[in-house]
Amino acid sequence: MQHYLNFIDGQWRDSSSQLDVINPATAQAFATMAQASIEDADAAMTAAHRCAKSGVLTDVRPAQRTTWLLKAADAIREIAAEGALILCRENGKNLATAREEFDEAARYFEYYAGMADKIEGISVPLGKDYIDFTSYIPMGVSVQIVPWNFPVSICARSLAPALAAGNAVVVKSPEISPLGMILLFKALEKAGFPQGAINLLCGKGSEVGSCLVKHKYTNQIVFTGSVATGQRILKDAAERATPSVMELGGKSAAIAFADVDLEQLLRSVKVGIFYNSGQVCSAMSRLLVHRSRYDEVKNAVVGLAESLTVGIGENNAELTPVISHDQQQQILAMIAKARQEGANILTGGHAADLSGYFVLPTIIEASPEMSIAQQEVFGPVLVIMPFETEDEAVAIANGTDFGLVAGVFGESLNQTLRVANRLIAGQVFINEWFAGGIETPFGGVGLSGFGREKGQEAIFSYVQTRNIGIRLQHNV
Ligand code: NAD
Repeated sequence: MQHYLNFIDGQWRDSSSQLDVINPATAQAFATMAQASIEDADAAMTAAHRCAKSGVLTDVRPAQRTTWLLKAADAIREIAAEGALILCRENGKNLATAREEFDEAARYFEYYAGMADKIEGISVPLGKDYIDFTSYIPMGVSVQIVPWNFPVSICARSLAPALAAGNAVVVKSPEISPLGMILLFKALEKAGFPQGAINLLCGKGSEVGSCLVKHKYTNQIVFTGSVATGQRILKDAAERATPSVMELGGKSAAIAFADVDLEQLLRSVKVGIFYNSGQVCSAMSRLLVHRSRYDEVKNAVVGLAESLTVGIGENNAELTPVISHDQQQQILAMIAKARQEGANILTGGHAADLSGYFVLPTIIEASPEMSIAQQEVFGPVLVIMPFETEDEAVAIANGTDFGLVAGVFGESLNQTLRVANRLIAGQVFINEWFAGGIETPFGGVGLSGFGREKGQEAIFSYVQTRNIGIRLQHNV
């Protein structure tokens, strides 16, 4: 079995302990990963701190950082095919989806390469006796903790703007899916970033993750993951008042009005809840349908779920296994609870008769207050329910503790836009789930977190404002 290493201070380093990397499609281990220790975490933080303090990232003309990021984008494209295969094996995801992660990662580097030399401050008019200006300076060392569902693209999403802004970075990969990120770092190694600017550790969240969060050299935390871990990290971050970006979970609703185009809606349902087997923070996990179209839409959505090919990612099946046995059991337990609470399982609701960790595409009719309609499942499970009025639809959509994304479907621009403006969410899609891209700001409100990633706005998550005021003397 191939053994993979951590990247610390410009070198690939082994550790005394290791973990097995398991293919969710076969439930078999196929590689081993060095498991970073606290000493490794400390070495990575020391290297990043040294790099950030030395000025190699900030004394240069910003266009130098543009050059590094563009080289990184090219190098990522070169390894994309190889990387996608490894990511598909460790994560269970569809090969095409795995490839998209690497393509998206390259785009993040390209996009933020173009911003590295445009992070401009302002001058503040204070009358003839003063000159005053602001500049945006990097945080220093950015600690970035990545989840398993889209490890490569989420890693690039935070890493690229952080480097564009002149930070050094220590990334912690998820224990359960670390290999795609190793391929990503092998590409980044070719881009010529200064020694210590990028570091990658795979280790236990409660040990290595926690050590990075509390470390004296940590100037910023960027966390993407579950609400419970985010809350834990915020408590730890409070000790040193470390600024944090939190990208957490969701329970996002789509509202389909009476004038919805059914084919358009079905295309969105397919990607909204079944893409990556529903293991998407911004998944369409609730579908609210106007009563007048409810039976028609319900039957069509059930038909869609039952038509999906279920199989392994390497064969590009439409519905692939979920990441782990634990995740599968957690999803099935939530479905069992929904049944007990009186929800109606319209299709799916159980594991597939295959050797990997599969959960069949599941559609559940439930009422808004039931746990299955309130809690994030993180699997291929869609809750469907009817509504009568616009106000009722908005109240149900806004009626959870989350606020990541939402969607509105209908022909009337007046109605869809009016409702979009009433939804509590960082991003609202009209007539296409996941409309937007790496260019559009993304992030949540409520338990979905705070701070923004993607788009030009994200660069401001990776800088702090410095103001300099100068008193002029006119007595000469
Ligand atoms: P998780 O919270 O279990 O783990 C995320 C990361 O945190 C892992 O790398 C883990 O090792 C680390 N970690 C665990 N405990 C830690 C601690 N005490 N200190 C520091 N680090 C620690 O999440 P997951 O299961 O990997 O991912 C699924 C969750 O992520 C879902 O809730 C999903 O909605 C969310 N998510 C959010 C976004 C977004 O952009 N909003 C994107 C993807 C996933």
